Amino acid sequence: MDFAIASDVEHRRRAFRDFLECEIRPIGDRRDAGGPLERHELDDLVARLQPSGIMHASLPHDVGGTNRSFLERILLAEEFARVWPSLAVTIDSHNIVVEIIARQGAPWMKDRYVEAGITGRAIMGDMMSEPQAGSDTRNLATRAVAAGDHYVVDGTKMWTTNGVWADVALLSAVANDDDYRRDPRRGVIHLLVDKAVSPWKVRDLPIIGLKAGTTGYIEFENCRVPRQHLFHADDTGYTQNLVVRGWARILLGAWAIGIMQAAIDDAVQFARERHTFGKPIAAHQMIQDMVARMHVDLETSRLLTYKAAWLMDQGVRCDLEQATAKLHACEVVKRVTDDAIQILGGRGLTTDEGYRTERLHRDARFLAVAEGTSQIMKLIIGRRLLGVSAL
Ligand SMILES: Cc1cc2nc3c(=O)[nH]c(=O)nc-3n(C[C@H](O)[C@H](O)[C@H](O)COP(=O)(O)OP(=O)(O)OC[C@H]3O[C@@H](n4cnc5c(N)ncnc54)[C@H](O)[C@@H]3O)c2cc1C
Repeated sequence: MDFAIASDVEHRRRAFRDFLECEIRPIGDRRDAGGPLERHELDDLVARLQPSGIMHASLPHDVGGTNRSFLERILLAEEFARVWPSLAVTIDSHNIVVEIIARQGAPWMKDRYVEAGITGRAIMGDMMSEPQAGSDTRNLATRAVAAGDHYVVDGTKMWTTNGVWADVALLSAVANDDDYRRDPRRGVIHLLVDKAVSPWKVRDLPIIGLKAGTTGYIEFENCRVPRQHLFHADDTGYTQNLVVRGWARILLGAWAIGIMQAAIDDAVQFARERHTFGKPIAAHQMIQDMVARMHVDLETSRLLTYKAAWLMDQGVRCDLEQATAKLHACEVVKRVTDDAIQILGGRGLTTDEGYRTERLHRDARFLAVAEGTSQIMKLIIGRRLLGVSAL
């Protein structure tokens, strides 16, 4: 088994880390607590990110991308989340949709939206979840009714990452009720909705962390979407969704790894500097116990997530490995960031002394909920191992 990361990949990862530390971290540390970025602030950050290559990494060569491997993209996502989780989630979530358009969109969609996505002129979202359909994706209520040269969309989408900024989004909607009632894997279409053409209402749903980002509550009311915006027809919508979800799951694993690494870096440095009872707290055995456990949580998450990414690069089915990596990394990140707070004592809890530990803890919490909760990951793993679906 070869655990080495190719030297060119390692080189690009280090360059990205240096870039982020120098160009992005100071802004994140200063700005995150201030709430959702203004659009001009996001535009400025996307412009700053351009030379780093992150906006092109997932895109195929034919649209000017660098088509990096899944493993490399996991390493980059880890570095990004280590520096500023809110921005990593914003940009990586946006990039996933740009990538889907670049790989699967009609030629006119690529022309209109890929370059706009790379430059941030159009911010992207993925609108699947609804108030009554989070885990239960068989319970979509949003309907897209065909009417001449357009669809009429009615329904509510919830939890859309980048929701308030989104100019363009991939919307899941039921287009064929009879098929959907018979089999929820059928009857769902994806529309590439453009707010300038098909306006919707949106408000922000503030959450416990990711303060610089936005999570949208979105309402479509009698919204006309031209038929040419059909992205996946009702026989492929569901399956295409599964492929994207698998990738997104290990991306969340990578964000968890980045957050754990940041929490451990800060806790270790603090433990060396802080003295109690005449010695650095690093020399107390109970501190070492916590640091050792944090390290094991981080390294096991890395192994599982890198393995799933590597399998994806081999083109091998790996839904079991994706769910295993997602479940593990997104659960242990909770206790790693919690232990980091414990090591910093009061300084781990306050926003006043210049430490980011409380922010990392808050930012990590959504990971075990989004993109399939930990309970749903267990059911996916159980189904594969036992051959029986509990869903
Ligand atoms: C920050 C954030 C960003 C998100 N971004 C997006 C996005 O960009 N696009 C998008 O479409 N969605 C997004 N989501 C939605 C996310 O995927 C859902 O929140 C998630 O699927 C869970 O759905 P829910 O919140 O409705 O919880 P529910 O599905 O109502 O679950 C509530 C609880 O019940 C448990 N549960 C449910 N069913 C079962 C079962 N069968 N067995 C055991 N336990 C069960 C769950 O695990 C959970 O603990 C985001 C969510 C968050 C928090």
